[in-house]
Amino acid sequence: MPEELTQEHPGLSVVAFIGLGNMGTPMTRRLLDAGHRVVGFDLSETAMARFTTSGGTSAATPEVAAAQADVVILMLPNSDIVESVVTTGVAAAMRPDALLVDMSSSEPMRTRTLAEKVRLDHDIELVDAPVSGGVQGALNGKLVIMVGGSDTAVRRLTSTLELMGKPTHVGTVGSGHALKALNNLLSATHLMITSEAILAGIRFGLDPEVMLSVINGSSGRSGSSENKWPNFILPETYDSGFALRLMLKDMRIATDLAEQLKVPSMLGNEAVGLWSTAAQDLPADSDHTEIARWLSQQEPHKNV
Ligand code: NAD
Repeated sequence: MPEELTQEHPGLSVVAFIGLGNMGTPMTRRLLDAGHRVVGFDLSETAMARFTTSGGTSAATPEVAAAQADVVILMLPNSDIVESVVTTGVAAAMRPDALLVDMSSSEPMRTRTLAEKVRLDHDIELVDAPVSGGVQGALNGKLVIMVGGSDTAVRRLTSTLELMGKPTHVGTVGSGHALKALNNLLSATHLMITSEAILAGIRFGLDPEVMLSVINGSSGRSGSSENKWPNFILPETYDSGFALRLMLKDMRIATDLAEQLKVPSMLGNEAVGLWSTAAQDLPADSDHTEIARWLSQQEPHKNV
């Protein structure tokens, strides 16, 4: 049973935040608004300027940020970057009692290995706390936060995480990352099948808004029909703030995990193949909702 977290431990006052992109920026705003001192670092000068304008304190390096903090939060693209940031200085720079929290969508097995490494090398505890809810959820403090780690560490973090959303303690370290990747495999797969269904309905002569309204009261509904189609695809803005390459990364994490665990991932592998083809066809910075437009441009009955 998931453990709902309580607010029995006070927040940690100084937060280092590394990775101030689409998600990191609104997440730091929630922490700043609540009175935390947030010391941030990002490779992008634009991201740093945006962060300092909203009241954050900039650090010259990730290590400088980490050395000042009670909790160090990472919101980075992937495990390669997380490992490099942590092992090239952040873990070594951290205060002995500080907690390291990876809120990125990283690879669960690598997270376990990294947790063991920072524990042995630096006596630092790593907690994984990836999120769902997108940029809008980050802005509103309504993220779903999937937390993996020891009871003690997770309790210490709870009130800080609650400023960004709703944390649920889902298991030991790495469990949050496993659940996040599996969630996104579902999300990507139903976005594709929802898009196929709506394109067929439009070609038949149905009004897509009528279709969505009926589907959303029926058994075919999902986050794709309730949120992505009405908010980003029908208005043709394709600006959810979640990149297609990041979605594909998460799908691959999930299907690789299934392979390592020797459980079937037949539909999942098929979905990864289709999203990979789309990723090759589309510009590198495409939003993941572009999958619907890409699909509409494929030849009918052709297996891509
Ligand atoms: P993003 O690409 O907008 O932001 C990532 C940031 O990390 C960038 O600003 C980049 O400059 C910075 N960065 C890269 N390497 C760095 C380094 N070595 N040191 C410091 N900064 C570095 O990505 P995002 O959309 O904010 O996503 C971040 C993470 O959250 C990813 O793991 C993603 O899968 C996950 N996620 C994203 C969403 C979403 O809707 N965007 C939702 C849930 C989870």
